[in-house]
Amino acid sequence: MICYDEPLYRPPSEANSLIVQATLGCSHNLCTFCEMYKSKTYTERPIEKIEAEIAEMSENVSIRRVFIADGDAMALPADVLLRILEKLKSCFPKLQRVSIYANPGNLLKKTPEELKQLSDAGMTLLYLGIESGSDIILKKINKGALYVHHLEAITKAMDNGIDVSATIITGLGGKSLWREHIEQSAKLVSEAVPTFLSTLSLMLSPATSDTFTGAFEEGFEPQTDSGMLEEEKLLIELIRPPRNIIFRSNHASNALALRGTLPGDRKKLMDKIDAALRGEISTRPDWMRGL
Ligand code: SF4
Repeated sequence: MICYDEPLYRPPSEANSLIVQATLGCSHNLCTFCEMYKSKTYTERPIEKIEAEIAEMSENVSIRRVFIADGDAMALPADVLLRILEKLKSCFPKLQRVSIYANPGNLLKKTPEELKQLSDAGMTLLYLGIESGSDIILKKINKGALYVHHLEAITKAMDNGIDVSATIITGLGGKSLWREHIEQSAKLVSEAVPTFLSTLSLMLSPATSDTFTGAFEEGFEPQTDSGMLEEEKLLIELIRPPRNIIFRSNHASNALALRGTLPGDRKKLMDKIDAALRGEISTRPDWMRGL
């Protein structure tokens, strides 16, 4: 049985996947709103141990999906990732999809040929937190990447056969920068055209609150729930992709679950948000939400 190094995170859509922990923590680990891996030092686990753990699970031949953790396992060198993919393929005959968290820096350091090799070996989906398309906000939150880096990284992954599931965080600009946040995020999503787009709602913990708000010299006034729904509505309205984007807001931090395809379901999604704003459909109360 695999013993994971906690805390262990995975995207909501990987709930039924086998998790292979190839790295510990996040190689960036500096985003001011994020405390996921603050208790860990970024570490690349020995490939022999990872392979042994995969072999241990190999009696479970029904495994179809694998998620490679932790926070940005795409930071691993391409040859190590290829060894992991090779081992997975040999142990799980029904394997259909291998996915991973990545940040723009990891992707921009890899060559197009390496990304194509990873895709051909079975890594067909990566999760990337854009958080915001606004450079003003990306600098404040210490994301370590700007608009142009997200655009280049997503394009590079998709051009080489890897689907991208991207996230935007509503509320990240507070009340003063919300329009800048949403307009620039919609512009980036429309230009980069990830395969999937999800939204999360900003939830600060006591451990992150002071550092995060301290970067807003003008003061940070948090969005209300209805303000975040207005942000989501404007985001959906402004995204104009040249091909379909599958949109989900099913994360546990969100007040309202939404799913559809953009641009086709734009009106349906906006109507549902309007109905929630008018109180005609119920939203998830604050105490039921979390990260
Ligand atoms: S890159 Fe992701 S996991 Fe790492 S600190 Fe930023 S938000 Fe957290």
